[in-house]
Amino acid sequence: MNYRGTFSSENIEKAISNVYNFADQVTPERQTCIRVKLIMDELLLTCRDAMGETAAFTITLTYRQGDIRIILETEGDEFDPMQNASPLLLRLLQDTAVESVWSRSKGINTTKLVVPVCNTLKKNLKLSWKYTEGQRGTFVLAVLSQLVGIGLKIAIPVLSAQVIVNLEAGIFEELLLLAAVLFVVLVVTDLAAFISNRSYNKVYNRTLSNLEKDLVNGILKITNGCVDEKGAGLFIQRLTVDTNTLAIGLDTLADLTSQIFNYLGILAAILLVCPPIFMIVLALLTIQSFIEIKRANKMKKDDRIYREANESFTGFVAEMVNGSRDVKLLHNEDNFRSELENRIDDANNKRMYMQNRGWKYRMARLEIGEAGYFMFIVILALLTKAEQIDSAQAIILFTYYTQLGSPAVLLLGQFLEFIKGFNLSAERVYALLENTEFPKESFGTRHLDEIKGAFRFENVSFAYKNANPLVRPHMVLKQLNMEIPAGQMTAIVGRSGSGKTTVFNLMSMLYKASSGVVFLDGENIRELDRETIRSNIAVVSQNPYIFHLSIRDNLKIVKPDMTEEEMHRACRMACIDEEICNMEEGYDTLIGEGGANLSGGQRQRLAIARNFLRDFRVLLMDEATSALDNITQSKIQETLSNLRKTHTIIIIAHRLSTILDADKIIYLDDGKVLDEGTHQEMMQRCAPYRELYSSEIHAMEMSDHI
Ligand code: ADP
Repeated sequence: MNYRGTFSSENIEKAISNVYNFADQVTPERQTCIRVKLIMDELLLTCRDAMGETAAFTITLTYRQGDIRIILETEGDEFDPMQNASPLLLRLLQDTAVESVWSRSKGINTTKLVVPVCNTLKKNLKLSWKYTEGQRGTFVLAVLSQLVGIGLKIAIPVLSAQVIVNLEAGIFEELLLLAAVLFVVLVVTDLAAFISNRSYNKVYNRTLSNLEKDLVNGILKITNGCVDEKGAGLFIQRLTVDTNTLAIGLDTLADLTSQIFNYLGILAAILLVCPPIFMIVLALLTIQSFIEIKRANKMKKDDRIYREANESFTGFVAEMVNGSRDVKLLHNEDNFRSELENRIDDANNKRMYMQNRGWKYRMARLEIGEAGYFMFIVILALLTKAEQIDSAQAIILFTYYTQLGSPAVLLLGQFLEFIKGFNLSAERVYALLENTEFPKESFGTRHLDEIKGAFRFENVSFAYKNANPLVRPHMVLKQLNMEIPAGQMTAIVGRSGSGKTTVFNLMSMLYKASSGVVFLDGENIRELDRETIRSNIAVVSQNPYIFHLSIRDNLKIVKPDMTEEEMHRACRMACIDEEICNMEEGYDTLIGEGGANLSGGQRQRLAIARNFLRDFRVLLMDEATSALDNITQSKIQETLSNLRKTHTIIIIAHRLSTILDADKIIYLDDGKVLDEGTHQEMMQRCAPYRELYSSEIHAMEMSDHI
């Protein structure tokens, strides 16, 4: 691609749009397209600022060996844009690993950039090949047997034509022999097809399960911030739909390539039998192929737009199903329905547009094919009449043409569509596996065999990542300093939204501090490994997620080798054993999705029991008993009192009455510690704490009164 103009705003805009379109043609990776566009944008603006709007520039873009090569030539004074690059441009060049070279000759500045394209077909196929491990022998067998079948298929029309000619001539001995040969050829062809299909199927299924396992593993490692931001639909769609396209990719490619060999074989056979017919067939195929390529290119863009709309629709469905109880109770079905309908319509309209456009191109190709068929028959008749070919040759050519014509062009379309779909799916699956768009949780390497559970926050600030980068993130924790001693019970209190849960999120490394350091037993928590943190720290939240499994399996998921005794003990400690035993199916009771058939209190206690099966040192309870009645609450407090002798317990409590005997109470206000001490100290010193406590006493008196 070439673009020439001066540095006027209009020309720059046009040049950038051309650059983006070029990148879009050569790579399905949208991130790369956007990066190339941004690089060009920054580069041209840097040059314009230095050289003025009237200076002329030329951009030449080529795509070679997986790289986009950009040459920017500017006329005028000596100017190296790389020496004057903005911080953004430098970062873009660095992130994208762009090579850049500047030179000057004959009054022209030349800047050459080489942008590596991340996911080309070759790279994607290489990655998919990785997942065929253990099945490569089967894959080779599939390809070989398919090639054998194709070779034999090309011979069939020659034999069939001979049969017809012999029938006409009445040469019966030869006919019998031909029939036998034809029979053997057909049986071997079927056998080859059977072996290749079975082998491809085996490769596909194994590849799919390898890929799905790896992807599930990858999804589990993605940071919480990223999962919150992207929503469940995206992950479900990629795990179920895109892995399938990828897994079948190698098989499809091998299958399509073999078929291409088939058509090339037929073309060669036509050339041998009759060169003029070969020329005509070739011309027809070229025209039809041209239309097909155009169609595939248009569909590539439409398909991406459609898939994005579909992802937004499935994401919303997942939200609606998960929150269906709340949707009903909020009497909000109409709003949800209309939002869902909008998204359904949007996705469907985009699909319909894509299909309609596809059909227009198909129609044009089909009609050229029909005209070609008519022409072919006329020419065949003329050649036969002029005795240029005999009847056997005419039959062979006719059979070949019917095998070749439309199916070959369709194959080309399928091939292009396959590449497009395969690359799109690869882009989406590998984005999940690689670190770029979906950051993975990262831990340090330091392992502590045993931890005590002393936390220290030193100037810790934190903001949740905003989905909209233009909105300034809201600082939830602001230079927070606090100490939580090991082997004691500490309570964190404060008004809603003051950052209590966020503190827990940082302690359990679900999120990392934006600045400052969280220390665990004197070690920077970022340097500790996953095992040290996750195996020692147990977190029970206010709304724990209970899995759609039996009660026993919910517990087993935490400790697969638990004994019956361990199970009962954990549930006794959480004061729920008796209730479970009284259920009709006891521990085998199936829990509805999201814990639907359990009360809030039962859900909380089951979540507590789940943690008592683990050998933790630190227990973080985030309003974990808020749904319990006073009697059950005090029983759980008894359990916690026993635990506090050997464990560090940190409680976020809404009901202050539950933490009166805590060793230390920390009052958090707007992301900072307002005060800390025992209940008595806080009552004396901290007015907001006193207020909170008296409002609770007042509420209790009111409810007693009622
Ligand atoms: P508390 O536990 O004291 O009620 P939180 O720590 O839950 O407070 O929340 C503090 C602030 O952080 C609130 O303004 C809340 O809206 C915001 N917040 C909490 N979780 C997220 C999240 N996952 N993404 C964005 N903002 C969040």
